[in-house]
Amino acid sequence: MRLLILLIGLLTVGLVAGKSAPGRMAVRYDNFKVYQVTIETDLQMEELRKIQEHITVHFLNELAGPGRTYNLIVGPLFQRSLENTLNFLEIAYQVIVEDLQKLLDEASVGDDSHMEWETYHTLDTIYDWVDQQCAAHDYLECKVIGKSHEGRDIKSVRLSKRSGNKAILLEGNIHAMEWISSATVTFLLNQLINSEDPELQRLSEEYDWIVVPMVNPDGFVYTHEVERLWRKNRRPNGHMNTTGACYGIDMNRNFDYHWGGAGWNIDEPCDHWFGGEEPNTEVEILSLQDFVSSFDDGYIRSYMAFHAYGQYVLLPYGHTNTEFPPNYEQMKRIAAAFSDAAAEVYGSTFTYGASGLLNYVVSGAAKDWAYGVKHIPFTCTVELRDKGTFGFFLPSNQITEVGIEVTAGLKALVNKAQEEGIFD
Ligand SMILES: [Zn+2]
Repeated sequence: MRLLILLIGLLTVGLVAGKSAPGRMAVRYDNFKVYQVTIETDLQMEELRKIQEHITVHFLNELAGPGRTYNLIVGPLFQRSLENTLNFLEIAYQVIVEDLQKLLDEASVGDDSHMEWETYHTLDTIYDWVDQQCAAHDYLECKVIGKSHEGRDIKSVRLSKRSGNKAILLEGNIHAMEWISSATVTFLLNQLINSEDPELQRLSEEYDWIVVPMVNPDGFVYTHEVERLWRKNRRPNGHMNTTGACYGIDMNRNFDYHWGGAGWNIDEPCDHWFGGEEPNTEVEILSLQDFVSSFDDGYIRSYMAFHAYGQYVLLPYGHTNTEFPPNYEQMKRIAAAFSDAAAEVYGSTFTYGASGLLNYVVSGAAKDWAYGVKHIPFTCTVELRDKGTFGFFLPSNQITEVGIEVTAGLKALVNKAQEEGIFD
């Protein structure tokens, strides 16, 4: 009898532990600090790269070069040692987050029983909502465009109310930890389907909308169940480091357009930004590419990939900061319309321009492939809120505001693109 009670007890514990719940994640960050360091010289840059040889550190930004700030996460054990090292190297720093776990708790999943945009949601809830919308509206065509490495569906929704429309594609959550991406893309889709705003209704009549809300379902589930800070997909990439096998490819570094040029991080396969040993290796992005290619040439006229953070509209190209797309000035005018309209709502300013200029030179991004290979005439990466206060862990109470400002930006963008002849 006692054994039976013990067994039932163990089973119950097992069930509870197996279900993902906020704050129960395997990897916790209690009393971990986020340091922002300002790197001024090449020597400091070199030393910062080497810091991980003796301090366990999680870089939140790709180490591109001097003249920038970088955020890094360090646990209680190594904080003193990091501060001593930074002081010794005369690297200026400040602590921007005192307790990362507290921040993560405010940016976690709240009531996940149904889809709304006041909290973040799990993959199941997002996909259930997608399925419900598809069942309720016959102008939505929903398709599984492929399976992830671990066998999860990659779903798409195509909204088409009129034949002969041109299309705008919205891509979400290719980077696992950027939860605000799928939250915003689903917010936009919900507006297009359910809003009573006459302008949005017109946009959903006059254009087709293709939405892939979750390009990286494996990584996304991993950020919910194991490690909130995961970025890549979850395919073992064939490399090892001292902690074991290395997983994942940064899928927004894996698209084949001027792949592997300057700024490349190929030597560090365990890094969060590892773009693979060659382009087009990941099943998730191959599915996405096949899906995009399944439409007639000229049908998709705008491709927008949603990311966090920094408040940018990043245009092609990524692989160079000295060459610009043939219609770069036109794309800048369209991005400016987004930026101006978005800023009018809550004052969030979005900086726009070529990603190689504004961000840093790196290739393999979706927007460059969509522009350079698929010849889609307006493509961009939208880096959503914020500018670094919360960074990747934007609190849940900002999701709706982000959705509203991006909706305003998107309306202006489409109208400007129309005026500029993008849809002709
Ligand atoms: Zn991203």
